[in-house]
This record gives sequence, C-alpha cells and structure tokens, in this order.
Amino acid sequence: MELDLSADAAALTANIVDVPSVSGAEDQLAGSIEAALRALPHLSVHREGNCIVARTDLGRAQRVVLAGHIDTVPVAGNLPSRVQPDPASGEDRLYGCGTSDMKSGVAVQLRLAAGVPEPVRDVTYVFYDCEEIEAERNGLGRLSRKSPELLGGDFAVLMEPSGCEIEGGCQGTMRAEVTATGRRAHSARSWMGRNAIHEPAVDGLRYHEGLNAVGITGGVAGNVIPDRCVVTVNYRFAPDRDVAAAEQHVRDVFDGWDVAIVDFAPGARPGLDQGPAVSFATAVGGAARAKLGWTDVARFAELGIPAVNYGPGISELAHTQDEYVEIPKILACEERMRGWLTSP
Ligand SMILES: [Zn+2]
Repeated sequence: MELDLSADAAALTANIVDVPSVSGAEDQLAGSIEAALRALPHLSVHREGNCIVARTDLGRAQRVVLAGHIDTVPVAGNLPSRVQPDPASGEDRLYGCGTSDMKSGVAVQLRLAAGVPEPVRDVTYVFYDCEEIEAERNGLGRLSRKSPELLGGDFAVLMEPSGCEIEGGCQGTMRAEVTATGRRAHSARSWMGRNAIHEPAVDGLRYHEGLNAVGITGGVAGNVIPDRCVVTVNYRFAPDRDVAAAEQHVRDVFDGWDVAIVDFAPGARPGLDQGPAVSFATAVGGAARAKLGWTDVARFAELGIPAVNYGPGISELAHTQDEYVEIPKILACEERMRGWLTSP
C-alpha cells in the first residue's frame, strides 16, 4: 500500500492505522514506510528486518533521533479506524487500534521526514518493530546491538503517547518467577501432601507498590496435589534504582522463596537539563512530567543519549478497545516539532 506523506497528519494516521501491524506481523507496514521514505532524495534509508532508519546528512553540529514503534497489540475488533466527534467538545477523535499507541506519533515522524528536508539539526528517523512484546525481540534493541552507529545522536524523542506533554525518564521493569514447592499427593488423600499452589498465599508475601503477581502456573493432574507452583511477578521501579538494586529488592521481598529473574529493563533519568533537550523543551513548551511505565527511552539512555517521550496520543488509552487519538493534538504535535526542527 502506498502512503501519501502529503496528506495531513490525521489522514496519514488513519492510513497507517488501517494497515494492521500486530507485533511480529509488521512486514506490510514496514514495506510501505520504507518505500515512502526511499522516494525522498534528502534521506538515506536503511532497513534491518522490519526496522527502518532514515537520516538527513547535512553535516549539522547536532543530530537528534525521532523514534517510534510501528507495531500494535492485537486488534480488538477496532479496525478500520473511524472519525467521531467528542460528544462534549465536538472535537474530532480518530478511533482504532494503534491510534494513540503510537501510529499518530509515527504519522508525525513521517510528515516531518517528508516535509523538513533541511532541518537545523540533522535528524535520524527510526521506525521499529516488536515493541509490544517480550523485550528480547524489540526492534530498537536489535538495532542498538547490530547497528548502533545508525542510532547515534545528541538527543532522542520517542513519540509514544504523552498528550503532547514532555515526559522525562521512565520507570524500570523486571519480571521474576517465584517458585513454591510442596509435596505431591493423591487428591483423595490431600492431607498427605502439601499443596504448592496454596503456598504463595501465606504470610511473608508482601505486595509493594508496583510489585504485582501477573501469572501463576502449577498443577499436575486433576487428582494430584501439586508439589510445585510458579508465580510470575512484575516489578515497576523508579529510575533512581538500577537493575541490581531492583533485583535485590525483589529477592528481599521474596526472601525464603526460589526467585529467578526472567526479564528486566532499566529505567531512565529525565536528562532535560542538557544539550538539545533544552531547545526542545523551549520549542514545544509546557512543563515536563515524570513518566510512569517503562518505555524505550531507557534504551537510548543505555546508549548514552538523553531521551524523552513526546507524542500526540493518550497513554491511558493504549491497549484498550476504545483507543482513540484527539485529531487536534496530532496536528499540534506536528507543528511544534516542525518549529523545533526549523528554528535555530
Ligand atoms: Zn507504545
């Protein structure tokens, strides 16, 4: 499908939303984005799997990175997109899977890539796959391992939904499996065994803010008292804790249990007081707020690039069936970003 980058950002968002791109099935959308960018002579375009990187090379003193993921969570009967006014304000909203998280942000990236051929700072546009699934498949992570030189820059803006407000930093996240063991027995003589699935409910398992059980597995057969139960917990931690401190906290909470860390991603400090971040904050205006939740801002932090979230969508609506984006926000976001990229 051909993308028309001269259409306004709201129409372009609808266009992109109507190409389903659930994580792992982004080929078609990635192909359309690649083709649209290759048609622009002022950009050099690289493709790595379903990641597309397009760069200006004007020899500017600074380079900024604008990044967005092109995948969505599974469609929930909410495609194709539709425009419907907000009953209260009458403002148009665009409904559909990925409108807020984050195809409206991707549409703004594409509009800027096409419409700002001579930015005052060199720009690297990054479109990547597999953000909504397990961390090891994340396209930005893959790019940073395989081709870190493509991601270099002085500052990055991740165009995740933030309601057109700058969100600095992000929480870290960690998944751990806590294993309880019991003693197997026939269920007709259950007193002879110790049911492992009942174990995690005993005292000593304290739930902290941001530390939640998110899964449980166990059970042998319908007539067997199970001797093993695994509870998966998710820990969201503030960016002043590093991964080691977070792991220690999880181990302390589950002291006495068998704990295995299965997945983690560090948080990121805001970093709004340095370099192009300052000009960005001035150009787009508004006060910055702290980000609750983990985003790929942290991956840029690991590469030594300060990064913020800034995009038109509404993060609270991400992954919901009633997901929508406010159309005026898409247009405002594009205008402010254009201002930043074109004014010295
Ligand atoms: Zn997202």
